[in-house]
Amino acid sequence: MAKLFDRSSFFHLASPQLLHKLLILATAWNRFMRLPSSLHFLILSFFLFLPVGAQQVEWKMKEYRGNKYVPLSQVKEFYNLTSMTQSGREIILKNSQLTLKFQAGGQEVFMNDVKFIFSNAIVALGTYHMSVTDLLKVIDPVLRPTKIAGAKAFDTVVIDPGHGGKDAGAINSLGTEAAYNLKVSLLLREELVKRGFKVVMTRSSDVFLTLQERVKLANKYRNAIFVSIHFNSAGSRRARGIETFTLSPEGVAHYGRSLKESDFLKKPGNKQDSANIALATAIHWTSLKRLNSSSLKLTVHDRGIRRARFSVLTGVQHPAILIEGGFLSHPKEKYLINTSTYQRTLAKAVGDGIFLYRQATLGKNPKKK
Ligand SMILES: [Zn+2]
Repeated sequence: MAKLFDRSSFFHLASPQLLHKLLILATAWNRFMRLPSSLHFLILSFFLFLPVGAQQVEWKMKEYRGNKYVPLSQVKEFYNLTSMTQSGREIILKNSQLTLKFQAGGQEVFMNDVKFIFSNAIVALGTYHMSVTDLLKVIDPVLRPTKIAGAKAFDTVVIDPGHGGKDAGAINSLGTEAAYNLKVSLLLREELVKRGFKVVMTRSSDVFLTLQERVKLANKYRNAIFVSIHFNSAGSRRARGIETFTLSPEGVAHYGRSLKESDFLKKPGNKQDSANIALATAIHWTSLKRLNSSSLKLTVHDRGIRRARFSVLTGVQHPAILIEGGFLSHPKEKYLINTSTYQRTLAKAVGDGIFLYRQATLGKNPKKK
């Protein structure tokens, strides 16, 4: 058997069972949201992670453009998935608990309806293959629960409203990104304080801070997570929706850029690879669910969970994510973002995601207030 999953390579992935638990939680979130909130605490405590047994597989790895790949048919076998079907470009692997949807030639992957953007596309090398990096850094932490200490309990949330002061970030006719980031961050602070978290803001007014100052401040705290709030802008007026970034694992490029030699260096934030993706999964999922809940009559696009090498993500030593809460450059979305309903809903949703993540790390309820 190829040394794909030996213990040492596996240990720094940290807490796969946590992410798996989160996916199960996320799948039930839809139903869950319709229930009165008093039931939420009760119901959350009933979710147990469902371990997927792994089979002995003689991995048939192939090399393609400098990366290692394994066949999807072996992924299916390894994780005890019972069927693999293809319709058009879509390839579906599933069993009674899990559905994995891949796109031939694409990087979008759905695991129980949570959208991830793989580092490498699914390629046809005789049969369809996925990269070993994505197997180890996305799929395996989700599908193979292993008892690995990683995601620590935390009580502090460092909220980082992006930009500020002389750096306005993206700008449109209605306002600046720096101001929207701050508004949502202050609302998020309220949400978190209500739920008993300690909150640290990298900035709570319109001041300029370097990225290094943000990292330094965040790293002063123990038992913390880091959440950076941003809004997006693009040259294309068609770009819209929400995306959540986690730090690229070693050997994975910054989103939209080709690989550089420095991408192979381990960054402080890489110690948290699994916790990062778990936190991203929770926040990304709850954000889309809340914003797209029927009462708001919105359609917010899901741009998925992505990898990036933003300075705040590389330097912070806590589980960290950066959420882009919508496009200021989109002709309709910019009006949505400007409403207090959207801002409040997003803040609530990020708060929900943090709560879910903490729920999964602790396995018990935070103090109710
Ligand atoms: Zn920004």
